[in-house]
Amino acid sequence: LVPVITIDGPTASGKGTLASTLAASLGYHFLDSGSLYRVAALASLRQGVADTDGPGIAALISKLRLRFDGPRLFLDGEEVSDQLRREDVGSRASKISALGDVRAALYALQVSFRRPPGLVADGRDMGTVIFPDAALKVFLTASPATRAERRHKQLISKGISSNIDDLRADLEARDARDRTRAIAPLQPAEDALLLDNSAQTVDESVAQVLGWWEQ
Ligand code: C5P
Repeated sequence: LVPVITIDGPTASGKGTLASTLAASLGYHFLDSGSLYRVAALASLRQGVADTDGPGIAALISKLRLRFDGPRLFLDGEEVSDQLRREDVGSRASKISALGDVRAALYALQVSFRRPPGLVADGRDMGTVIFPDAALKVFLTASPATRAERRHKQLISKGISSNIDDLRADLEARDARDRTRAIAPLQPAEDALLLDNSAQTVDESVAQVLGWWEQ
């Protein structure tokens, strides 16, 4: 079986950076599952499908023409990587991710990323629902203050100004929603290893997980 490493955790915990760096260093494929919820959100916005219409969005997902090229994502031949980061797209992604039909429609697509020589998958339910047999499951956390600060710096680098307290309130509200939703709530798999990276550099987190992987 093709080996999988799952990295789950709350928003802005640094999952994406950790997972993509690990994938590059192991020569494995990389799945950013959040980008699939985001592309479903963008497509449903464009087609005017309501964010409460699970079956409608599921039907749309089955017809998506996607192409992945490293970190770039193309929808119907058009690069949409930047649009996926939009705030309205992120908040719609969060809403539609609570719909069972949407989660089911994205299942096969996520599993299809499991190809030799291996996969590093990041998201909320990679270790609990999508790849329950993963060889290594990491649940990544960081304090709300650290995550708000990282998001703030990220925004500054894009020339966007923001308020750290607002960002933190926003993160905590999203966490609460992700943790308490009925379907695939955000929680560590029973066999996940917990990693709090609040006081770590990216290199330190990567070294830690590679150490676990080699054991
Ligand atoms: O990680 P990212 O912020 O890109 O994910 C967008 C939204 O998709 C999240 O707010 C989360 O609610 C949802 N999501 C999910 N399950 C995943 C990945 C993302 O429910 N595996």
